[in-house]
Amino acid sequence: MKKHITLLPGDGIGPEIVAAAKKVLDVINERYDYEFTSEEQDIGGIAIDKTGNPLPEETIKACENSDAILLGAVGGPKWANQSVRPEQGLLKIRKHFNLFANLRPVTIFDALESSSPLKKEIVQGSDLMIVRELTGGLYFGQPSERRDNGKSVIDSLTYTRDEIERIVKIGFDTAMLRDKHLTSVDKANVLESSRMWREIVDEIGKEYPEVTVSHVLVDAAAMKLITNPKSFDVIVTENLFGDILSDEASVITGSLGVLPSASLNQDNFGLYEPIHGSAPDIAGLGKANPIGMILSVGMMLKYSFNLESEAAKIEEAVNKVLNDGYVTADLMSDDGQVLSTMEMTDKIISYL
Ligand code: ATP
Ligand code: MG
Repeated sequence: MKKHITLLPGDGIGPEIVAAAKKVLDVINERYDYEFTSEEQDIGGIAIDKTGNPLPEETIKACENSDAILLGAVGGPKWANQSVRPEQGLLKIRKHFNLFANLRPVTIFDALESSSPLKKEIVQGSDLMIVRELTGGLYFGQPSERRDNGKSVIDSLTYTRDEIERIVKIGFDTAMLRDKHLTSVDKANVLESSRMWREIVDEIGKEYPEVTVSHVLVDAAAMKLITNPKSFDVIVTENLFGDILSDEASVITGSLGVLPSASLNQDNFGLYEPIHGSAPDIAGLGKANPIGMILSVGMMLKYSFNLESEAAKIEEAVNKVLNDGYVTADLMSDDGQVLSTMEMTDKIISYL
């Protein structure tokens, strides 16, 4: 199998964790006799510094000529108050490739159960997947502007029926591959967009008689995620609710640093990135946890290249490393052996 991958290291700890991902790719090449080639391109703050544009044309071209994209992280205090922001690069690339389906598995690693601020009995046995709509809603609403000389402001929430239908279908398809329980999260008691969302979920649900559907309001869902995360299998929701709930859900696992994500379009072309941000506070110190990034490589193998067993091997290796007591500094641990980014990467590779 021959595949070309564009690596977008970005800012903060991005370059360190993408270097870890590259190392894992190289090892997979060797072990399985694949030909994965890659090239690095700029996105985010570093791209602004070099070209003034958070998503340069050259980066888009390289991605267009690739089979998948691996991204580290963008942003940082350096660009926080500028009119052109690193995050615009991320929004643009999602829109450009129509990456409307954001899949975020929330997996509990046995070894990290005590890292979670939640009680062990609440965390144990939780395993859920958040399916977040990624190219619509408030993030892309027009108009979005200050008005009346700054005396008022407007953001708009727009969805088309097609946009809702396609993400809801991904929610049902995902549920079919798991425990066949879909929770649709909305705010139907307040928002018209949520009422339409609910109607569409019920319509499409008729095509999936095996899937149990629950409608839960976002405020109740936020509470339930903490009090009873086991009650969820697959959550499908719109862009902003999905953003907030997935950061919340990451707390269940004990660390932001271990969670991967996939952002896919209709053809399963995808951008894969850890769910955490650029962590400027630890950038360049070799402390970053590479696990979320490495598991994102696993998701790429699974979703874009159909290499399910290779993806499973990566997950197994991560699980074993953690079970054997190896951690990075972000994983609260009393007795674990704390490894640097590259030591953790090499350890995972040695278990592959
Ligand atoms: P963004 O706005 O880009 O989502 P954020 O404000 O949510 O960013 P992060 O950059 O994700 O913040 O960082 C939040 C905290 O978690 C920071 O203290 C950071 O150091 C830590 N952190 C995030 N990712 C990792 C990682 N991979 N390894 C170790 N610590 C991490
Ligand atoms: Mg965040």
